[in-house]
Amino acid sequence: MKTPFLFLIFLVVGLLSAQDTYLHCGKVLDVESGKILNEKTIVVSEGKIKSVQNGYVTGSNSDILVDLKSKTVLPGFIDMHVHIESESSPSRYLERFTKNEADVAFQSTIYAKRTLMAGFTTVRDLGGSGVNISLRNAINKGTIVGPRIYTAGKSLATTGGHADPTNGTRSDLMGDPGPKEGVVNSPEDGRKAVRQRYKNGADVIKITATGGVLSVAKNGQNPQFTLEEIKAITETAKDYGMLTAAHAHGDEGMQRAVRGGIKTIEHGTLMSEETMDLMIAYNAYMVPTISAGQEAARLAKIPGYLPPVVAKKALEIGPQLEGTFAKAYKKGVPIAFGTDSGVSPHGDNGKEFGYMHRAGMPIIETLRSATITNASLLGMENLGQIKKGYIADIVAVNENPLQNVDTLEEVVFVMKEGEIYKSEE
Ligand SMILES: [Zn+2]
Repeated sequence: MKTPFLFLIFLVVGLLSAQDTYLHCGKVLDVESGKILNEKTIVVSEGKIKSVQNGYVTGSNSDILVDLKSKTVLPGFIDMHVHIESESSPSRYLERFTKNEADVAFQSTIYAKRTLMAGFTTVRDLGGSGVNISLRNAINKGTIVGPRIYTAGKSLATTGGHADPTNGTRSDLMGDPGPKEGVVNSPEDGRKAVRQRYKNGADVIKITATGGVLSVAKNGQNPQFTLEEIKAITETAKDYGMLTAAHAHGDEGMQRAVRGGIKTIEHGTLMSEETMDLMIAYNAYMVPTISAGQEAARLAKIPGYLPPVVAKKALEIGPQLEGTFAKAYKKGVPIAFGTDSGVSPHGDNGKEFGYMHRAGMPIIETLRSATITNASLLGMENLGQIKKGYIADIVAVNENPLQNVDTLEEVVFVMKEGEIYKSEE
């Protein structure tokens, strides 16, 4: 008799002390309809949105009340392309010889925090050393403050390809890295590399389908995987429920990636109209990363900042991204918001909204891309909107973003999974 009675007492006490958070929002942007809703109260309980009520409602004395009456409130943003372990610097190419894994790890915690404080509550990390996996775990445990991370671990490349970790080194340091290190040269290698990443704890698979700008290699756009290799990778990734992404600047490599079953094409710089049609037919997404194109071209003009072989590519390829994105969007290619932050500074992710808008995408579309679209690509259907039952990732800005896109660069309130990380008056 005693036990059920005690249980009842605990249950009642538990219910009474459950602390909810009440957000009094002057304006809420419903990203789905594109409408601004005035004077709403969002009630958050145990990490989820419990209700969205009309007017300013208050709970009990123990509940938390947040005044966002002068703000516009939106769902937390999702960036499909970051590199949380690193950031551009003149010593970047030397760092792989001077930094220990622990140095990278400590630094990455700073970048993670900056990203979250900029309103990006979820990111997809498309390649680092593997520290990104430990970082994700530490954030999930609550040890470190940062966004929810979906990570590729270490990217896949072919020998000498964009993500070959020993590119540009002295010959005795070059070695012959294999699938474990992310270098594949056959369909078998591709399958092994995917399984290795699964074993390491990666969530997604990233390949470098063409040459790239920032690697110490001559060609920035040639195809670097065969169709058979790409198919082996995407089929294996599918077996393990992993989303696939391909870095691609050149058109041929991009077409192979799409035909090979890759879901998101990163950059897409030299995408032809034919490839745009192919992307539409395959329902493949372009992740424009205009921020990276702008930043790479800017750095290339600073004498000595980038190695000459890299600077040349940055000036050729970087500035073209915006124009290609404009064409692709107009043609109807599905667009997923992503910045390639790490090339540009972490925490500046919000600038991408302005770049996309100025290239011709309506502001509401840029926001849908960074919320509803990206949540769906990540298989998180209960993320990316402010609705009952959704995960409570909520941010606020000073102005109505539909009237001033640049306000999205200055997020003043950040909640991730019901917890408040930033709250400025
Ligand atoms: Zn990247």
